[in-house]
Amino acid sequence: MKNTLILDGTVVAEDMKQATKEKVDQLKNQGITPCLATILVGDDPSSETYVRMKGNACEKLGMESRRIHLPETTTTEELLQTIATLNTDDRVHGILLQHPVPPQIDERAAFEAIDLAKDVDGVTSWGFGQTALNFGAYPSCTPAAIMAILAYYNLDVEGKHAVVVGRSPILGKPVSMLLLNANATVTTCHSKTQDLAAIVSQGDIVVAAVGKPHFIKGEWIKKGAIVIDAGYNPGNIGDADYDECAKHASAITPVPGGVGPVTIATLLSQTVIAAEKTSAVNESA
Ligand code: NAP
Repeated sequence: MKNTLILDGTVVAEDMKQATKEKVDQLKNQGITPCLATILVGDDPSSETYVRMKGNACEKLGMESRRIHLPETTTTEELLQTIATLNTDDRVHGILLQHPVPPQIDERAAFEAIDLAKDVDGVTSWGFGQTALNFGAYPSCTPAAIMAILAYYNLDVEGKHAVVVGRSPILGKPVSMLLLNANATVTTCHSKTQDLAAIVSQGDIVVAAVGKPHFIKGEWIKKGAIVIDAGYNPGNIGDADYDECAKHASAITPVPGGVGPVTIATLLSQTVIAAEKTSAVNESA
């Protein structure tokens, strides 16, 4: 554990935010304020916190945060209407619909309604498809954040066996695609995977994306492996048993202060890239 490299996400996030802030200043000189619209449906306290953090992070960089809070009883049609309005609003460059939405809403339909050009959170199936084919503009933010951490710390991915535990549309599947595109050999595990411990123990890189506190055990980790913990459970607890995993790993992300801050920095960065694209369109018009 003494020699384990702690992959500090706050450092990576600060580096990304500094670069993003410079772009924000340039855009503002051209009269464009990058704007992220966040949509929160209902009153889930964790979701409220996440949306507030994202909005505050925007404002800190001089970006605009348009916060839309819809009632718990919102219908799919009402949400689709809100998204349609934001899609056609030229002052909005990115749209984030906070997951999860209340059960009466068709969340997938709502995600799909987001204009691909404003899908800075990478939730549409078009966005996912493009990410998988390695030309997407905006990958899902948490997967992109994981890749950014690996890149920042110069951790080689090529030829490595990456084991991803989780296959959700916003995390496990897209990070598997990004790792594959970076020439890792990828195994994606899920709740029906047999003998998970044996598979994880083959991983040179292990990505924990399960949604269960301390699920990945230290004894599953191959000596010298890299452990990336995307989990974020109540009480600031990750999906990997940090203390035990760190005994075997060569590098590990902490929770909190690992993947989380980089995810937000990625969201801001991708919103600003979307704003830059509108700026380029304006210039060529
Ligand atoms: P999710 O949609 O609930 O997906 C969890 C995945 O884990 C599923 O694919 C599931 O398999 C798999 N799984 C569940 N039990 C398992 C088991 N016993 N063995 C192997 N796989 C199992 O969760 P998510 O949205 O991807 O989030 C995962 C974690 O990341 C959560 O802790 C969440 O809070 C965190 N997260 C963090 C950020 C961030 O910014 N840091 C962003 C998003 C999510 P099946 O597909 O078979 O059900």
